[in-house]
Amino acid sequence: MHLTWLRNDLRLDDNTALHAACERGPSIALWLVTPGQWQAHDEAACKVDFWLRNLHALRERLDTVNIPLLIRRIDTWDEATEAVLSVCRQHKVETVHWNDDYGINEEARDAGVRAALEEAGIEAHNHLDQLLFKPGSVLTRSGHYFQVFGQFRRTCMERLLDGMPALVPEIRKQVPLSIRSSQLPTHVEGFETPPESLRAHWPAGEAEAQRRLERFLDETAEDYDRLRDLPAKPGTSQLSAYLAAGVISVRQCLHAALHRNRGDLDSGNKGVQTWITELIWREFYKHIMTGYPRVSRHRAFRPHTEALPWRHAPEELKAWQEGRTGFPLIDAAMRQLLATGWMHNRLRMITAMFLTKNLLIDWREGERHFMRHLIDGDFASNNGGWQWSASTGTDSVPYFRIFNPVTQSRRFDPEGRFIGQWIPEIDHLFKNIHLPPPDSDIFKNNVYPRPIVDLSRSRERALEAFKGLPRSKG
Ligand code: FAD
Repeated sequence: MHLTWLRNDLRLDDNTALHAACERGPSIALWLVTPGQWQAHDEAACKVDFWLRNLHALRERLDTVNIPLLIRRIDTWDEATEAVLSVCRQHKVETVHWNDDYGINEEARDAGVRAALEEAGIEAHNHLDQLLFKPGSVLTRSGHYFQVFGQFRRTCMERLLDGMPALVPEIRKQVPLSIRSSQLPTHVEGFETPPESLRAHWPAGEAEAQRRLERFLDETAEDYDRLRDLPAKPGTSQLSAYLAAGVISVRQCLHAALHRNRGDLDSGNKGVQTWITELIWREFYKHIMTGYPRVSRHRAFRPHTEALPWRHAPEELKAWQEGRTGFPLIDAAMRQLLATGWMHNRLRMITAMFLTKNLLIDWREGERHFMRHLIDGDFASNNGGWQWSASTGTDSVPYFRIFNPVTQSRRFDPEGRFIGQWIPEIDHLFKNIHLPPPDSDIFKNNVYPRPIVDLSRSRERALEAFKGLPRSKG
């Protein structure tokens, strides 16, 4: 018997580990429910629910090829070794396959399981699947991990031009086994089931992910470079949750995009090229997390920025979290996050910069809040995005380029359509929607809060804080 240990790869198609196991012979699959670990990692309830819904969809697909799906419930990854071993003993498993997962805890978990399996005489095989390139295989000439995205991207593109990572062949139907699939959980204690209104944004299953990809490539991709900054328009693929849970693979995305671009990787349509660059940002941050493990330990990528005098301002933090800062674009974005489990990329940057610069609140507070609410929460991309916005990370925005949320609002939501959708109580302000005038009725009736901070004074405060830092040692 051969076992695939599924993790962030909840799909049947183009699943490297699953295919490798099935090629060996009769196969079963395993998924571990680990609520204690998820709590420790601040996983969002809507993300856990998305996993569970996708597991149901995956089981239906596994049924069609006669692969039983077993579920084992433990609390944390400390118990993963025993859980995997016990399934192996029970079903006389000869080889175990999994797709590589990244991060300090993930890698320690996998190393522990591998050692125990090998000691028990069971083969353990890990596979590259979540990424296009194995971290550590894309390095500078002097053999270091890249710290600058542009150079990393160039090297990735050269590699891709030399040869694209191939899609894995389809899984063949196996002879039915006498092993029954486990009952799948529909809810895990400690993670509240999200409202249907949130779930409706994110239907489960590979077919849905493929439909999104196709629709995006058919209808939007060509204008992606123009539309992707406009939150009122459906100008991006909204595939991040599916990529994070592995309901679709990055290879499938890349192949489909290339096909649409007539096979051109670095020429042809600009929108498609820009989208491929975004897939490489995802890749970049995973490589950064592996090459610079301090970022997984809540440390700044640029150590000298650890000295920033972050403010302890719980009321302001709460106002930001709840979408009550008095800056409509910020508040609309934060409400979008709470209601849908997702936020538009431009707004992630604007809200993150507002928290870390105008409120001078530690980026780790924002990182945690995002993780607790994002359905696409991905440690590497979230950490990378936060450290970029806070000017503490690789390739970060320079500290003196502070977005003004009102200017950004006029530029990227010129008609206030996005704001009006999320804050209907100020929709009637028309042009003033970006910054309601101080004498507006909405303040008299407490319909909407006044700004919690003065933009120009807080900007100066942030600049002073950064200027006061000791010099970076590079
Ligand atoms: P598209 O524009 O269609 O892009 C396609 C895919 O490329 C995305 O699904 C995603 O996998 C990847 N991608 C796009 N932009 C980025 C980026 N800047 N960095 C890394 N990958 C990218 N992305 C996450 O997947 N999970 C997170 O937890 C996350 N947290 C973020 C936090 C902050 C503060 C910031 C600034 C960005 C964060 N991002 C995160 C990146 C980005 O905002 C989302 O990937 C994107 O908004 C998802 O929407 P989409 O699928 O429509 O993206």
